[in-house]
Amino acid sequence: MKIKSFILPVILLVLLVACATTGPKGPAQKEPDSVPALPGSEPEPGPEPEPEPAAEPPFDFALYKPNELGEIPVLMYHNIREPEAVWTRTPDNFRADLQRFYDLGYRLVSLTDVVTNNINIPAGTSPLVLTFDDGSAGHFRLIKNEKGEIIVDPDCAVQIILDFAGKHPEMGTAATFFAHLPHPFAQADSWYTGEHRTWKLEKLVEWGMEIGNHTLNHLNLRRDIKSPQQLLEQLGKPHRLLAEILPAYKMNSLSLPYGIGPLDEWKDYLYSGEYQSTAYRHDAVVLVGSGPAKPYNHKDYSPAAMPRIRASNYPDGGESNFLDRALERLAKTRYISDGDPDTVTFPESALESFNIESLGGKKLRCYRPEE
Ligand SMILES: [Zn+2]
Repeated sequence: MKIKSFILPVILLVLLVACATTGPKGPAQKEPDSVPALPGSEPEPGPEPEPEPAAEPPFDFALYKPNELGEIPVLMYHNIREPEAVWTRTPDNFRADLQRFYDLGYRLVSLTDVVTNNINIPAGTSPLVLTFDDGSAGHFRLIKNEKGEIIVDPDCAVQIILDFAGKHPEMGTAATFFAHLPHPFAQADSWYTGEHRTWKLEKLVEWGMEIGNHTLNHLNLRRDIKSPQQLLEQLGKPHRLLAEILPAYKMNSLSLPYGIGPLDEWKDYLYSGEYQSTAYRHDAVVLVGSGPAKPYNHKDYSPAAMPRIRASNYPDGGESNFLDRALERLAKTRYISDGDPDTVTFPESALESFNIESLGGKKLRCYRPEE
């Protein structure tokens, strides 16, 4: 075990050298334009030379300050409706949240983007994940307009996200809805049918949103589960039910009801299992509280227990302003993209948090910010 503790400082040292030499300073090496012809040799007639591509300007670290080891807010919403309460955000407050995130430089990414290390947003912007628990009607509601036509309620979360992206396309539309199957959005109007439900789920996917598992019956998995079979039903049956509605779609994330997992000896079932010959796999298991998440290349990245931030600043006993406090913290700690999903960039000061084994086929770029 001595070797490990010896190798790590060596790796860090090598990286440190890389950091020190990958700064923004120094003129770019100029390649000679062409090989000079030897005296007496005739230049061969050939095809017209291709125009040389303009050299890419060097990456401006000082401008973007990329830190792809910084924290990612995974926000947790519950009801979207009137009035504002501990577990309820009003439609207008949710609109204001989106505007605030956008103005602060956040862009929506999916949970899948986070767990596959495929965050693809412009340089200088930061990823933010929206999640919605419990599949309440305010997440995705169909209503009839005055002409009797069925439309998406402009005050439901899905339409609010779409409308915002209509005005600011670069914000994106990613969001994950942790709903209960087979009735994902608890809509109970007499005219509402299974076809409407299927339409909703198909549209969600088409619009770049995700469906996540919130278990079959929202039990307390530690207190109420008495056997592995019961746990498999709670975790796996929603996958079977969704396969009947949307055969091509696979849920890859799980939100634990109350943020509570099962007994330790059954914990592996959270991540994968099989229920009545339907196999499932959860690449992300999200919790209820309480801070931002570490990104994929961070040594403390924890997709199996991913923290979320309650998207609320409603007074709740001694605890309030979860959202404001988180955004304040994130002003200093947040992930800032380098704009290139194939390169992992961070300042030298973050080096100790880097998990070198997570790099995969990506390029590493570590820089020393100018004083
Ligand atoms: Zn819940």
